[in-house]
Amino acid sequence: MGFTILLSPPDVGELEQQYVTAALRSGWVAPAGPDLDAFEREVAARVGRAHAVGLSSGTAALHLALVSWGVGPGDVVPVSTLTFAATVNAVRYVGAEPWLVDSEPDGGNISPVLLRQALERLHREGRRVPAVVPVDLLGKCADHDAIGAVAAEFGVRVLADAAESFGASHHGRAAGSLGDAAVLSFNGNKIMTTSGGGMLLTDDAALAAHVRKLSTQAREPVAHYEHTEVGYNYRLSNLLAALGRGQLARLDEMIGRRRALRERYRTLFAGCPGVRILGGADDADDAADNCWLTAIVVDPDVSAWTAADLGRALGAAGIESRPVWKPMHLQPVCADLDGTIDGTAERLFDTGLTLPSGSGLTDDDVALIERVVREVTGP
Ligand SMILES: *Cc1c(COP(=O)(O)O)cnc(C)c1O
Repeated sequence: MGFTILLSPPDVGELEQQYVTAALRSGWVAPAGPDLDAFEREVAARVGRAHAVGLSSGTAALHLALVSWGVGPGDVVPVSTLTFAATVNAVRYVGAEPWLVDSEPDGGNISPVLLRQALERLHREGRRVPAVVPVDLLGKCADHDAIGAVAAEFGVRVLADAAESFGASHHGRAAGSLGDAAVLSFNGNKIMTTSGGGMLLTDDAALAAHVRKLSTQAREPVAHYEHTEVGYNYRLSNLLAALGRGQLARLDEMIGRRRALRERYRTLFAGCPGVRILGGADDADDAADNCWLTAIVVDPDVSAWTAADLGRALGAAGIESRPVWKPMHLQPVCADLDGTIDGTAERLFDTGLTLPSGSGLTDDDVALIERVVREVTGP
């Protein structure tokens, strides 16, 4: 609190004001309207999906995909343990049991090897597994080729949590186009924002139509508001969709700025023994990453300082930094959950630090961050 340089603040300007003002003047001040329709079309086209449904949050998108697939009590859903709570919460909303799966060490994404172990064990125990939810951590896609292959082998659907990875790609395929369905978030701290919002992306027309219906209280298409199933009030506002269209027009520019920051950090830490950038060894890896948040991992056996030391020094200078997500299997709210855990995510939590990565950072901001980092790391 009281930071002057934030981790990932919204980057909103003149263009977004024009879009929102035009939407206000249009009279479509509701969770319906031409900007919402256009925003869905534009995002779907951007990632190469047939259908997009604009929703009030990424969490709502996760929730409705699971509802629509009929996931519920008695089902087990393997989920990446190194994630924001929303991923696991959505599984609980439908009464299913999240099964927490540990990370691969390079990028912290769900380990396909451990996912296979989890599915083999659950299969052996006769548990019903309708879906898995991999997460693209901090803007780097999980290994969707391997995940898709394992999921197909066990007849399990993939719900890709791409809340952090809009604009990233995996072997040339865009985040959001991977999995049977994918979820984006447009929360205030994400790579682009509608202040709050989310989207479900899929090539399955029936799924998209059902999620759209569920998001507007599951009204049947008749004048007297007929309902045959339980619905939700999860639709995205037309005004916020207009904001999203403005942000989308600037997405590549904003990603470019975050990627340039990633390169600065790469250079800054290049001479520091025991320090690496989470999720990518080089520029080629960064090109597929949307560079939403840059995180370093500091090996305390090699480095003379720890991630926590650097976090404290940055904080004292008014600069926000944060550990990577606390693994869900270490969260008190998940104490009752089981999983396939090998300690990797916990190690990344203990030794990782996310650094200011916003596209609106000024040159002065970056110079200050670099100065504080050098004070800790040495010249
Ligand atoms: C932000 C985030 C979400 C939730 O998105 P909201 O729009 O905030 O509901 C879900 N999963 C992950 C991994 C996220 O980072």
